[in-house]
Amino acid sequence: MRSNLVAGNWKMCGDTASIEKLVAELKTSLPAEPGLDIAVFPPSVYLAQVLAGLSGSPVAVGNQNVCDQPGDGAFTGEVSASMLADIGCRYVIVGHSERRAIYAETSEQVAQKAKQVLEQGLVPLVCVGETETQRDDGATLEVISAQLKPIFSTLSVQQLQLIVVAYEPVWAIGTGKTASPSQAQEVHAFIRALFAKKDEQLAKGLRILYGGSVKAANAGELFAQADIDGGLVGGASLDAQEFSAICRAAE
Ligand code: PEP
Repeated sequence: MRSNLVAGNWKMCGDTASIEKLVAELKTSLPAEPGLDIAVFPPSVYLAQVLAGLSGSPVAVGNQNVCDQPGDGAFTGEVSASMLADIGCRYVIVGHSERRAIYAETSEQVAQKAKQVLEQGLVPLVCVGETETQRDDGATLEVISAQLKPIFSTLSVQQLQLIVVAYEPVWAIGTGKTASPSQAQEVHAFIRALFAKKDEQLAKGLRILYGGSVKAANAGELFAQADIDGGLVGGASLDAQEFSAICRAAE
């Protein structure tokens, strides 16, 4: 069956010293043999430092973004999936709501990014989620469906089997407001049903993470929902004790 995954998105936070401290604290506070998958996503300039610091630990490392084009090339400022694979990353977040909203990333670009990631043998964490206005307008499921449409048209069923989806209601990210377990479960079940239209087995194996102000205090209740397979954690992942408690709630 599906194994849970807890992913820590460090966003654009930290420096060499604070990241060294966080990595050292994670190594002592996380379970040595966790009954789940754990990954952290530092800012890309610190990837090598975190990969070295966590080497030999069960914690995987990923990047928060990737270029939608393959290989080397004239894409100033971008980082390719092959570069991330080369240095030892295992995961890449694509389509985080901050990238969609601040950098105008489209769902088509997000699907291209997921494709590049898969072609390098890495796992994309594909983020989807509605804004508060969209929820208030009753458009949540329609928005999620539209965000996933290019994923279905761009990736093969074999590739879809390898992705992770993160449902992150935009109104819950960094706001302290969390979707209630039943609100989250409703959307997770809907996402699984969309994948089931492609392939039943694929849907059963798909890991769907919840993200949006996850903390140790609310993680247990969220992760107990039938279609929630772990979390994508922002702010709370910068505190090793809090992140470890969230991981334990997902074991
Ligand atoms: C995120 O950055 O993906 C996120 C969910 O942030 P936070 O946990 O701080 O809401």
